[in-house]
Amino acid sequence: MQEHNDHEQNPFTGMSPRMAEHLRHEVYNELTELGEMQHVMRQIEGKAHRRTRRINEHMKHCGDCLSEQIKTGMLIELSDYWRLHEQSGGGRYPKLHYQVN
Ligand SMILES: [Zn+2]
Repeated sequence: MQEHNDHEQNPFTGMSPRMAEHLRHEVYNELTELGEMQHVMRQIEGKAHRRTRRINEHMKHCGDCLSEQIKTGMLIELSDYWRLHEQSGGGRYPKLHYQVN
């Protein structure tokens, strides 16, 4: 799946060896940096994925989280959580937000 997406989004796929050599000659620094950035982005993607999974695992097994989800009648997705968090001003005033509650 991941590999499949990489290929779909990769403009260099199917490029002739001559063209690849040409680019290595003309824009070597950009290609090198792009490669490094893609490497870092994959790492960050992995980190974010692991943390999201851990939070979701917590919410599936924690009594407080489960009862809250049952009370509101829905299983809150993490993306919804951040949206609510932002809308309540939680992003800027987390302490105030918790005090009000
Ligand atoms: Zn919890």
